[in-house]
Amino acid sequence: MNLIPLPAFQDNYLWVLHDGQRALVVDPGDAQPVLAFLRREGLQLDAILVTHHHPDHIGGLDVLRDATAARVWGPARETIPGPLTKLTDGDSITALGLRFEVLDVPGHTSGHIAYYCAGIDGTPLLFCGDTLFSGGCGRLFEGTPAQMLASLDKLASLPGATRVCCTHEYTLSNLKFARAVEPHNAELIHYTQRCEELRAQNLPTLPSTIEQEKQINPFLRTRLAAVAQAARMHDAATPPDDVAVFATIRQWKNEFK
Ligand code: ZN
Ligand code: FE
Repeated sequence: MNLIPLPAFQDNYLWVLHDGQRALVVDPGDAQPVLAFLRREGLQLDAILVTHHHPDHIGGLDVLRDATAARVWGPARETIPGPLTKLTDGDSITALGLRFEVLDVPGHTSGHIAYYCAGIDGTPLLFCGDTLFSGGCGRLFEGTPAQMLASLDKLASLPGATRVCCTHEYTLSNLKFARAVEPHNAELIHYTQRCEELRAQNLPTLPSTIEQEKQINPFLRTRLAAVAQAARMHDAATPPDDVAVFATIRQWKNEFK
């Protein structure tokens, strides 16, 4: 199986998985890069997986459905132009012969879902939309801090080797914030250097892994004393509980330049 992040817009990735003949795409905000790729590689589009309703994730749906007759799956609790098969937590689907489990991960949007495959060529894979980014997480447009923390906990409990396919190249700006939260995290400094090298060559920093994110992503580390302390330094009124620390870190990131 081949896993390719097609760049779109300013900083989106449209993830394509293919076996040399058949392909699936996740969150096609724009149809044109997908169609150009399918043509160039001689692929047939079988499946489209949607994580949430934002335009940069669904803008290419109608064109792709008409051009390819691909089957479309998406979240049950969001309004997305059909026809599509609606999914919710605990559902599973088969695409390209692979089984994907559906996880509810509300927070960025209220019906956001993620797709987890336990093994592709021996490695697990996660399509998490705008829930988890490398070094960061999605903004809370519709959900609460408690919901997002629970969603991130769910993703953090997946196997460490899981490849994390996020839909935006936000890594370097996320890492700048992460270093403000945890200036003494050696792995974070090391990871930042690697990502800077990749971006200097115009290469994606993704996919990341769950193991990597647990070491460097402040939003997966809010229960660590150093992160909770940084939250209280930023906002002394932060109560000593996990959700409050998470909420302060998320708010701090919103204001961070
Ligand atoms: Zn979004
Ligand atoms: Fe997005």
